[in-house]
Amino acid sequence: MPARSVVSSHSPRQVPGSRLTDNARVRAALDWFTPNISWVNDQQARITEIPAPPFQEAQRAAIVKELLGDAGLAVQIDKIGNVIGELRGVNEKEIVVVAAHLDTVFPPGTDVKVHRDGSRMTAPGISDNGSGVAALLALARALQFAHVKPQRTILFVSDVGEEGEGNLRGMRAIVDSYRERLKAVVVLDGSGTDHVTTKALASRRLEALITGPGGHSWSDFGMPNPINALVRSSVRFINTKVPASPRTTFNLGQIEGGTSVNSIPHEARLKVDIRSESEDELTRLESALRECIIAGVRDEMDSARDRSKGKLEWKVELLGSRPGGELPSDSRLLAALRAADEIVGNESRIERSSTDANIPLSLGIDAISIGAGGSGGGAHSLQEWYDSAGRETGMKRALLTILGISGVAEEKAR
Ligand SMILES: [Zn+2]
Repeated sequence: MPARSVVSSHSPRQVPGSRLTDNARVRAALDWFTPNISWVNDQQARITEIPAPPFQEAQRAAIVKELLGDAGLAVQIDKIGNVIGELRGVNEKEIVVVAAHLDTVFPPGTDVKVHRDGSRMTAPGISDNGSGVAALLALARALQFAHVKPQRTILFVSDVGEEGEGNLRGMRAIVDSYRERLKAVVVLDGSGTDHVTTKALASRRLEALITGPGGHSWSDFGMPNPINALVRSSVRFINTKVPASPRTTFNLGQIEGGTSVNSIPHEARLKVDIRSESEDELTRLESALRECIIAGVRDEMDSARDRSKGKLEWKVELLGSRPGGELPSDSRLLAALRAADEIVGNESRIERSSTDANIPLSLGIDAISIGAGGSGGGAHSLQEWYDSAGRETGMKRALLTILGISGVAEEKAR
């Protein structure tokens, strides 16, 4: 029997919600939010006004690092740019991560000035994910204020690369670093308290490229044409049957190629987004795309009037992939969320979506994504808004969920 089994046997009990609020320190932490709403709103505006385009999150990360440090956490920035603040638990061998992504979809130069009107704030990124990052800071502050010591260690993470081409690289790095000790991940993304994302929507982004010699529209007529081939391939692909259940979708989102109307192009490109509730369907659809590209190229070569003028080459590349997964309905994390909902008088529905939670869920690690409270809209648009009215409900819900899964140390352990 290893000596350390004494420590690891202290895994948190299944704490029903009511037990959590019996703890005076937990109650003090919950009471922190209401009188500090304007502080939270101010931090949200401050953070939102620091641009964080994809792959350029460093400036925002520096401020978040400082703020998490002010909340008494030991903070570091890892080599990929994630901010990680540690609240050490009694059991350091087990970790619960609460994460809010730093990045926005907006390119450099976007006007990110926050306009405030009462409880309403308008600016690109104010809700997605200014509200999540602000809630992350508030949770750390509330726990510090109330001297709550968790049973399992809690990591407060503000991660890079959640949006688009970021391809969840920040969360991938976190899960990679802490995999063995990681027990649960709670993602704060956007506003609201109406949902809990427990199902990770799998998606892949692919780019097909067809190339040829290129030439003159008149003198080289008959040479195989990459755009012709891509059109032939595309028509085949859009006729692919996809099931309604498991729901599976595809989108031909971008098409490029050619240099002028009287030139036979030397290349043509197509970007395709495919999504499915089933990883198998996704794989099937990806192979269908490859087969259609091969067939389209073959059809074009077969009909070329003069093959001596060169041939077509093709390739299909994976630009990004978000793996799927699902939180078991009897998981302790979902029970903790439901208990938190009950305490704050909230009702939420299960959702399937593509979020940072995809990564842990795909590896069988318990994870959910929830809103950070308040309300918002216009995500990914220049008219994005956030209204902080009632936001404390979202923060209390998140706090109770996290403590429900981390456990809280006995009163004496401070
Ligand atoms: Zn987001």
